[in-house]
Amino acid sequence: MKKKILTGDRPTGKLHLGHYIGSLQNRIRLQHEYDQYIMIADVQALTDNFDNPHKITQNIIEVAKDYLSVGIDPTQTTILIQSQIPEIAELTIYYLNLVTLGRLERNPTVKCEIQQKGYNDAIPVGFFCYPISQAADITIFQAEFVPVGNDQVPMIEQTNEIVRRFNRIYNKDVLKECKAILSNTPRLVGIDGKSKASKSLSNAIFLSDSSQEIKQKVFQMYTDPNHIRVSDPGCVEGNVVFAYLDAFHCNKEEVKSLKEDYRRGGLGDMVIKNILNDSLQLLLEPIRVARDRIDNNQVRELLLEGTQKARELAKETIEMVRTAIGIKYF
Ligand code: ATP
Ligand code: MG
Repeated sequence: MKKKILTGDRPTGKLHLGHYIGSLQNRIRLQHEYDQYIMIADVQALTDNFDNPHKITQNIIEVAKDYLSVGIDPTQTTILIQSQIPEIAELTIYYLNLVTLGRLERNPTVKCEIQQKGYNDAIPVGFFCYPISQAADITIFQAEFVPVGNDQVPMIEQTNEIVRRFNRIYNKDVLKECKAILSNTPRLVGIDGKSKASKSLSNAIFLSDSSQEIKQKVFQMYTDPNHIRVSDPGCVEGNVVFAYLDAFHCNKEEVKSLKEDYRRGGLGDMVIKNILNDSLQLLLEPIRVARDRIDNNQVRELLLEGTQKARELAKETIEMVRTAIGIKYF
C-alpha cells in the first residue's frame, strides 16, 4: 500500500510563486509514488476571515484551477474541501484536550501572524487554535508526509506532539506521526522584501498573473538600496531579485556569474530584472494557458468526487479514534 501525503492551502486567494516553489512542485513530483490528498482548507481560512466568507468560498474554485494548471493530476491526487468532512471537526474537539494554552502561545508562526493581523489582545479563539485543527487535517488522512513551506514546520511539530500524547493515553497504534517535506526554497520572500510572499500580504506574483502584471511586479522588486549607480558594487544577500533568480532561473551557473558581476559593480538593476522577467514569463506562460482551458463545471465535479473519496478515509479514522477513546456506545 502506498504511504499517504496530506497537504493543503487556504482559499484566501489564488496561488503564487511561493506555493509553487515551496510545495506544489513537490506535490507534482510525489503524486505518482504516494497516495496524495490535497485539502482546500476553507474552515482554516474562515478562522481569520469569518466576517468575509464570500472571499473564501469564491476562491475554492480558483485554488483548484491553480492545482490543475501546474500539473496536479486528479487521477493521482485526491482534492477535497475541508468543510465538507465533518469528521475533521470532531477529531479537532478531541485534540483540543491534549494541548495547553501555553503550548499554543509558543507557536512562532501563529505569534507572527497574530502580530501581522493586529489582533493584540482580541485574538479569535478559532484562529489561535488552528494548529490543532491542522493536526486533525493531517492525521484524519493517516498522512506520513506533508510537503509544505517552512512556516508550517511548527504545525508538524505540534501534530506529532498530539499524536504521541493521544497514542500514550488511549492506544499506542492508532495515529501516525508525520514528516514535513521541504523544498530547496522552503520560504520565498515577498516582492517587497518581507520574509514571506503571502496572499494576505499582497506581495506575491500569482501563477495566474498576466504577462504585464509579472513584469510590473518584477520591476517593483526591492534590490540593494545602496546600489545607486550601475558602477557601484551591489549586495546580493537580501536582494529580492537574486532570491527569485536563485529559485526560478534554470541556469545556476549564469546566476552565479551574475552575482559576481553585481558584487563587483557594473551590473545594473534593470539588467537583472529583465533576466528574471524572462525566466518567470517562460515558467508562467504555459501555466496560464493551461488554466484558461479549464472548465469550471469539470472542476466542481472533481471536487465533489475527491471530497467523497476522502470522506470515506476520514470515517475509517474517526471510527478507530472513537474506539480508542472508548466512546463507541452503539
Ligand atoms: P495566507 O496569507 O492566507 O496564509 P499563504 O500565502 O500563506 O496564504 P497558505 O495557504 O497559508 O498560503 O500556504 C499553503 C502552503 O504553501 C503551505 O505549505 C505554505 O508553507 C506554502 N507557502 C505559502 N507561502 C510560501 C512561501 N512564500 N514560500 C514557501 N512556501 C510557501
Ligand atoms: Mg499562510
